[in-house]
Amino acid sequence: MRIFCASIATETNTFSPLRTDFSDFQESFYAPPGQHPVTPTLCSAVFTEGRLRAAKEGWDLIEGTATWAEPGGLVNRETYEKLRDEVLGQLRAAMPVDGVILGLHGAMVAQDYLDCEGDLIARIRAMVGPDVVIGTSFDPHSHLTDLRVKNADVIVAFKEFPHTDFVETGRAVVDLVLKTLRGEIIPTKAVFDCHMIEVLPTSREPMRSFIDRAKDMEGTGDILSVSFIHGFMAGDVPDLGAKVIVTTNNNPAEARQVANDLGVELFGFRGATRPSFVTPDVALDQALASDAKPIVLTDVWDNPGGGVPGDSTMLLRAVMKRGLRDFAVGTLWDPMAVRTCFSAGEGATLPLRFGGKTGPHAGAPIDAAVKVKKLERNAWQYFGESIVPLGDCAVIELPGGGEVILNSNRSQSFDPSLFSNMGIDPKSKKYLFIKSTNHFYDSFAKIAGEIIYVDVHGPYPSDPKTNGYRHLNRPLWPIVDDPFAAKAS
Ligand SMILES: [Zn+2]
Repeated sequence: MRIFCASIATETNTFSPLRTDFSDFQESFYAPPGQHPVTPTLCSAVFTEGRLRAAKEGWDLIEGTATWAEPGGLVNRETYEKLRDEVLGQLRAAMPVDGVILGLHGAMVAQDYLDCEGDLIARIRAMVGPDVVIGTSFDPHSHLTDLRVKNADVIVAFKEFPHTDFVETGRAVVDLVLKTLRGEIIPTKAVFDCHMIEVLPTSREPMRSFIDRAKDMEGTGDILSVSFIHGFMAGDVPDLGAKVIVTTNNNPAEARQVANDLGVELFGFRGATRPSFVTPDVALDQALASDAKPIVLTDVWDNPGGGVPGDSTMLLRAVMKRGLRDFAVGTLWDPMAVRTCFSAGEGATLPLRFGGKTGPHAGAPIDAAVKVKKLERNAWQYFGESIVPLGDCAVIELPGGGEVILNSNRSQSFDPSLFSNMGIDPKSKKYLFIKSTNHFYDSFAKIAGEIIYVDVHGPYPSDPKTNGYRHLNRPLWPIVDDPFAAKAS
């Protein structure tokens, strides 16, 4: 038996001032055949899980390219076509194959391609024919299109947000593809469109119990797999929004029923799933009045993981205005300022302009006389088991005493190791300012005395009602109050 695997992944914020090209993939993660590491990345766990099963069961895993770019702006056409054709060429060379296993994100948008993953899967289907089994994993912050559902036999998305279950998800895809190939199951899928876009963290209720229940359903009756697509509100595409996808063993009626029941329940959670997001002023009042240490304040929208640059200065400016001293910021993206700090050297004091450079919505740059406290080439942080590169980084000390990590590779704040790897003991600081919507939660909750979610209106299109989607072609809550009535009329 021969199974081909590949992974092309990024999340495209179509509103971002950034653009994404091949160098962004190279900078984040690019592993041509034979070069995928031993540990999985977020979207490439099908490689490592496939290797385990292939070694145990004696079949051939033919590895194609695996690549990931930190979420950013529109992918240029050349880059998408290059990566797509690279993988298609590898598959062609590997033929004949019995199965194809993909690790996709599912929210990639390129110039002239609103559904990159649908295009890729459809081309793979056209190449391998109807009898080869195709399976893929998706990130829930993606767009589920009919083209994908039609051409893939097996679709499984991460259930957890934070995505702590990406390895289990890769395992499930590999397992369902193998079972299908061995004739043990006939996967039948059904999709329910929830007609809503909402932030759906599973680290809190009501999503926590909902996901636990969905997990328990897998393996009961004919249910093989239950996945939830949350949607990604910064992607202006026709299929934006939450959907449920249920796979049963040759039981389409049960798949439809379960997808419908869970979808209706999920729609019922709208407006009640987020932690409270507070304004910077309220957040700082709350932090100043608290005895907890460290207090983690996360800028939920200036999150590079959502495709914005990550160089907003708005929260830091408010912090400096309040005169806070015992704090660290991890991180602020500014490769130009990092370059200047490296030229100045550790211990140097210099007037530095940093942050706020990439667009009109992220605040103005900050000018300050700073001290370069630490410089690190190719710095990194953990995200679960995987290593996330931060590029060359500089720690600068502000005149008031706060410390800011400037990074060269855009990344959201995943883990306190981003501070400790730069010589800052995160537990020694009273306030830690980070940029992440919810992926930080699992690791930072272990050290945080308190966590505050700060709602800074800035570069991210955080209000679907005012985002002005051009491609969305279905009624969606909260843009309309009752999308199902709107759809019927
Ligand atoms: Zn995600």
